[in-house]
Amino acid sequence: MKHFILPLIFCASSFAADTRDAVFQKSIDEMFPRLVEIRRDIHMHPELSNEEVRTSKLVADRLKELGFTDIRTGVAKHGVVAMLKGAQDGPCVAVRADMDALPIRELRSVPYRSQNPGVMHACGHDVHVTCALGVAELLSKHRDLVKGSVKFLFQPAEEAMPATFKGDWGAKLMVAEGAMENPKPAAVFGLHTTALVQPAGIMDDAAHYLKSGQIGYTPGIDNANSDRFHITIHGKMAHGSSPHKGVDAIAVAAEAIMALQMIKSRQTNTRQPLVISIGTISGGDRENIIAEKVELGGTVRTYDATFRDGIIEQMERILKGITAAHGATYEMEYRKTYPSILNDRKLIDATLPSFRRIVGQKNVIELIPGMGGEDFSYFAQVVPGFYFRLGVANEEKGMTYGGHTPMYDCDEESIKTGVAAMAAAVCDFLDSSKAAAQ
Ligand SMILES: [Zn+2]
Ligand SMILES: [Zn+2]
Repeated sequence: MKHFILPLIFCASSFAADTRDAVFQKSIDEMFPRLVEIRRDIHMHPELSNEEVRTSKLVADRLKELGFTDIRTGVAKHGVVAMLKGAQDGPCVAVRADMDALPIRELRSVPYRSQNPGVMHACGHDVHVTCALGVAELLSKHRDLVKGSVKFLFQPAEEAMPATFKGDWGAKLMVAEGAMENPKPAAVFGLHTTALVQPAGIMDDAAHYLKSGQIGYTPGIDNANSDRFHITIHGKMAHGSSPHKGVDAIAVAAEAIMALQMIKSRQTNTRQPLVISIGTISGGDRENIIAEKVELGGTVRTYDATFRDGIIEQMERILKGITAAHGATYEMEYRKTYPSILNDRKLIDATLPSFRRIVGQKNVIELIPGMGGEDFSYFAQVVPGFYFRLGVANEEKGMTYGGHTPMYDCDEESIKTGVAAMAAAVCDFLDSSKAAAQ
């Protein structure tokens, strides 16, 4: 008799999930026009990191309309943390949505184009907020199907602050201000809109799209340790006609830049992904004066924390050697910012069946991680996390551009997928946690 119990439980819970999916889908279709309005409102009024006053108010006002009573505003400046209690007691699970935009001038001529000149939702955070508000609305309408509670983390300042900014921001500051406590969630989910991807097993440079209606994920690491550095090389000023009387900071900087590139090609384990990019350079006062000072700014991307520490040492060694060889000196300020995300293996395995149920087996796609940075990692350091990709590309609609570009746009149909996938992930997690506890 015992042999029949497990399959029966499995069938019953699978049936229940299918039924719930159908109920949710009907509600999502009804909610969709309003969700598009919300997305366009946010898209038309983008706000830079730590300036999300309007967006934060929109979120809090909408949550109040939906009947939320436990809403904390002003977390990490403009963050909003809100709790939804299901009809049944159970564990808590968190959903994170980042809210900020980028200093980019939007070039697409769409009716919902940015009304804030020079600022644009070029990373899709407008869609992230909309999807989370969609999940909040959906689950508040169907509390009877929620076996526990859901904590919504509307996060400011995901796009990194300038290197000169002092203190913490974004996810790290939300964690420091207690967003992951009282109650502490058992897991955290986050989604990110994505148009261009590298599917697992394909290493070419062709454009591969994650289409609207698809979901992507990496099986472990997603995004890189994303750091910044600022180097100052000090030489000695002299007349341009007598370089031997000075120390040419520009010539020393040129040698240092080339030598730093040798770390990747000749000094590190080839199996470890590494990027060292210098993005800014400035120095010198006039064409006929030997430059006294050159400043360089750049970023280092790695996956492994120990490997990263080794890179910092190698950079110091190169800078020390080259400047000493030419009678120059240097200073380097190295700032570790976002750690790489490590998606939790158990949570991935438990959640992929939910996604496959929502979008179909062939539309859940394994990806190779990129070298971008994401501060979702701070939440995922506190509890098991799963950061997945919501496909937003649509070739017919011309939505084929990557994030952080002035032509980026998301197919709004993807909002339905985002809400359905996140709601299924959250409810399935609560169902299985409750079942395990019984
Ligand atoms: Zn971004
Ligand atoms: Zn982003």
